[in-house]
Amino acid sequence: MAEEKELRYDPSAIEPKWQQRWAADPSMYAAEPVSCGKPKYYVLEMLPYPSGQLHMGHVRNYSIGDALARHMWMRGYNVLHPMGWDAFGLPAENAALKHKTPPREWTLNNIADMKRQFERLGMGFDWATEVTTCLPEYYRWNQWFFLRMYEKGLVYRKKSKVNWCSECATVLANEQVVDGCCWRHDGVIVEQRDLVQWFFRITAYAQELLDGLDKLEGWPEKVRTMQRNWIGRSEGTEVDFFLEEKVDQGSGVGDRGSNAGPSTSLRFVQEAKAVRIRVFTTRVDTIFGATSVQLAPQHALVATFTANNPALKAQVEELLEQQKKAREAGDLGAIEKHGIPTGHFALNPYNGERVPIWVANYILADYGTGAIMSVPGHDERDFEFATKYGLEIRRVIAPVDPAAEEPALPFCSEEGVLINSGDYNGLSCTDAEKKLQEVAVAKGFGEAKVTFRLKDWGVSRQRFWGTPIPMVYCEKDGLVQVPDDQLPVLLPEKIEITQQGGSPLSHVPEFLNTTCPKCGGPAKRETDTMDTFVDSSWYFYRYTDAKNSTAPFDPAIAKYWFPIDQYIGGVEHAILHLIYSRFWTKVMRDLGLIVNDEPATRQFSQGMVIKDGAKMSKSKGNVVSPDDMIARYGADATRLYSLFAAPPDRDLDWQEDGVAGVSRFLGRVWRLVEKYAPLARTGRGVKAEAPTGLSLKLLRKLHQTTAKITQDFEGRWHFNTCVAAIMELVNEIQGADAQLAAGAVPAPVVLELLRTLVLLLAPLAPYLSAELWEVLGEEGSVLRAPWPVSDPELAKENELEIPVQINGKLVTVIRVAADASTKAIEETALADEKVKARLVGKTVVKTIVIPAKLVNLVVK
Ligand SMILES: [Zn+2]
Ligand SMILES: [Zn+2]
Repeated sequence: MAEEKELRYDPSAIEPKWQQRWAADPSMYAAEPVSCGKPKYYVLEMLPYPSGQLHMGHVRNYSIGDALARHMWMRGYNVLHPMGWDAFGLPAENAALKHKTPPREWTLNNIADMKRQFERLGMGFDWATEVTTCLPEYYRWNQWFFLRMYEKGLVYRKKSKVNWCSECATVLANEQVVDGCCWRHDGVIVEQRDLVQWFFRITAYAQELLDGLDKLEGWPEKVRTMQRNWIGRSEGTEVDFFLEEKVDQGSGVGDRGSNAGPSTSLRFVQEAKAVRIRVFTTRVDTIFGATSVQLAPQHALVATFTANNPALKAQVEELLEQQKKAREAGDLGAIEKHGIPTGHFALNPYNGERVPIWVANYILADYGTGAIMSVPGHDERDFEFATKYGLEIRRVIAPVDPAAEEPALPFCSEEGVLINSGDYNGLSCTDAEKKLQEVAVAKGFGEAKVTFRLKDWGVSRQRFWGTPIPMVYCEKDGLVQVPDDQLPVLLPEKIEITQQGGSPLSHVPEFLNTTCPKCGGPAKRETDTMDTFVDSSWYFYRYTDAKNSTAPFDPAIAKYWFPIDQYIGGVEHAILHLIYSRFWTKVMRDLGLIVNDEPATRQFSQGMVIKDGAKMSKSKGNVVSPDDMIARYGADATRLYSLFAAPPDRDLDWQEDGVAGVSRFLGRVWRLVEKYAPLARTGRGVKAEAPTGLSLKLLRKLHQTTAKITQDFEGRWHFNTCVAAIMELVNEIQGADAQLAAGAVPAPVVLELLRTLVLLLAPLAPYLSAELWEVLGEEGSVLRAPWPVSDPELAKENELEIPVQINGKLVTVIRVAADASTKAIEETALADEKVKARLVGKTVVKTIVIPAKLVNLVVK
């Protein structure tokens, strides 16, 4: 019995033992100083929100990063592998309401719990660099950056329509509105409210953020595409149409009811003082096909038109209402298009043509100029609208080939030439765009224009648990910055969270009332706090110098570590966090703090962990707790399974059977090494003979496996097939158990086999590897042992596959030794069962053997 017990793999004994030893040696996972002389490697996983419990998605994310970090340590790099907490945010306030626990206490307790889970999982984090974003030593630097950006004109305040979630009782960024609803509250429709908000001028970097994507070759194409679409650059022209002045009836030129107006020259007399309607178009080449101008209901001109026209005013209000509803439902793009003619006309600046002005519900005031020219002949949306309202549809672009059949309208291709376009007839679309732009510039009615979909980043939140915005309002001096030496502006310790509306801090007089830094008179603090995406925009710089109390970090240290070599996190952060942090990097570079343009050279988005076909969630009742898995199978098996069950970029469907299987595999490894360690130890320092036979066969497999896993760590990241390859290797060694037991393989070879097996497993199953490293009598930590190098000679297959043909037709493939003679190859071919069957009753007249390539038998 006792002996049997000894042969059982028991992670609950092995893992806590090593966890304790590692905890006792903080230098184990610590980054070395910049002066260490080793090449650096910064591997980073996105920091978690401290909800109190790690979930399986975390386990997967951090198992990938930890495997990479450990591999790089073994490759001799100075590795920075830090961890921290994205610790501000709404759940802490909700918990405070529910359990009457202060947000800070709730958050720090959760952090302690999750840190324990991380340690139990055996994650190799450098806790000396831990960053907790809700602590003043961190958020004071958010405030410091806010002030630097304010001084550079990158922060401003503006009254604006904001997305408001009634459930969160706060403003949401556009990115946090999903299908018209709050990203945290499915089914809660986001309203539009007018509020004075603080903004970061991210649009100042729109072009650079876009251009930079081309250089980020180590980022997934999917993430880059999502960012490109989010930034949404479009190149085009802004052109002024002129508002036709309504002239008194008596003058004879005011017949506003008909399109047959007075002569063009007469109208242009008034051009200089005419009211201009600026439109943005990406297809100025089609401007001769414009048959109306369409304004957003909020356009300034519309107010003028409706001032003395109550009927029109009522109609416009209806359009506004439709737009608001569509916006709230989140499908502005799918709005049923309605419009109304205003009775006013605009003049095309190129030819003076008179076109009606409409107001339409699908034109947005905050996109472009809030006005468009409608070209139904060459635009889908305009075509739909013109068809509905019977507006003229005119063809102004024809196919390049004059013999080609006239395409149906709308014809939206840019492969064409202009017709019905006056002096510009015959120009290609591309040439016409350029030419028409030049004319607009020369005559002062337009310019080339690039527009972006990206909007400035609204950072005001009416929340308590966030970074206070370091500004005060003085009656005498207006808006005043909090001076650097008064930072941090501290969050009050004791606050009763209520839902009175507005910013919770505005209900705390001790916080709200202050003195003006300029005049010393009474002043009030800003009571909004910052969006928590501010915290995660630069936390990874702080890791490099986390204890710095005089600056956010030392630029010299950041210069050494940046850019991050590998950043790992879920694809749900592709636009929010990854655009904001790229923006922050560029701002810090322009502040002279860093020299890198981008935060990370490589980025990786792992797939989700699902169960029974759905994302794990409490509401679905399909959550698998990491603690349960660890208790049942150990941390190594839980981690290894999360790497083995699916390629890391794909979704992983959690199967407990699979974890059990991985645990059994680790048990086999443990028994194998335990059994042959005594033999292996005797091989240490003994010079091995050139391997042959079984030794050669096993070493070949070993070196092939080493090559494969090394290659995967270098970029392919097929960790699932890496684990499969190690399983094959173990099968092959175990398959030779009887011969090994009989001493058929010399001790130095056994040592190499077991030692390398342990090294290959070390990044993936760190506890078991540490244990077996010791069992093998190796000194020092396996984490610092050099990564094994595959010998290409040993890895080379010694057998070749050679096709056998009969009369030129493939019959079979035979396996022969790589150095087999022509005669031996011929004999093997003739002995093959398939070949023999085909040769029954026939005669071989000629045998052609091309060594290592082919056997062809000519038969009659
Ligand atoms: Zn919400
Ligand atoms: Zn003042």
